[in-house]
Amino acid sequence: MVRENEIRANEIAVTPPDASDAGLVFIGRIHTPWNNRLLCPRQGRHDGPICRIEIFAPWVPALDGVERFQQLEVLYWLDQSRRDIVKQSPANNGETHGAFSLRTPVRPNPIGTSMVVFVERKDNWLMVRGLDCLNGTPLLDIKPDRCQFTPIAPPQPGDFETG
Ligand code: SAM
Repeated sequence: MVRENEIRANEIAVTPPDASDAGLVFIGRIHTPWNNRLLCPRQGRHDGPICRIEIFAPWVPALDGVERFQQLEVLYWLDQSRRDIVKQSPANNGETHGAFSLRTPVRPNPIGTSMVVFVERKDNWLMVRGLDCLNGTPLLDIKPDRCQFTPIAPPQPGDFETG
């Protein structure tokens, strides 16, 4: 059930320290069809609609090479989330779970991640499928899917150590 701004039965909210963004820089904005949390998918789907990721100057050159990857990991800031509920009841049935055992947007640092399918790049715009965030959500980072990425630098000592 989508959360607006309520505390549910048996949930626990805490008083967090003053919010700070730890020096993060919003590097762009995500444009999606969803302007309302009630309509937003809970998790993105690779057959979902094409969404547009706008990259702000001066970060546009950082996009070079992304087209080599079929899948990209996108990190975003769920800016409309509450950040204070440590025990949550997703089903709103009195049964609660710790925030770190959930993929809820309600978390101390509301970072969302999605593995998206690359569709196209046009200048400072990236078209992808697989997002689940509101229109206008601030963008934090984009990385290649770790399974498709081969390190470009030669191996370093310790790369293959186990245990
Ligand atoms: N895929 C991400 C993850 O697993 O980290 C996010 C999952 S979270 C369950 C997705 C939900 O967050 C959406 O269904 C919507 O209710 C909510 N949401 C999306 N964009 C948001 C935003 N900008 N601020 C607050 N909540 C947002």
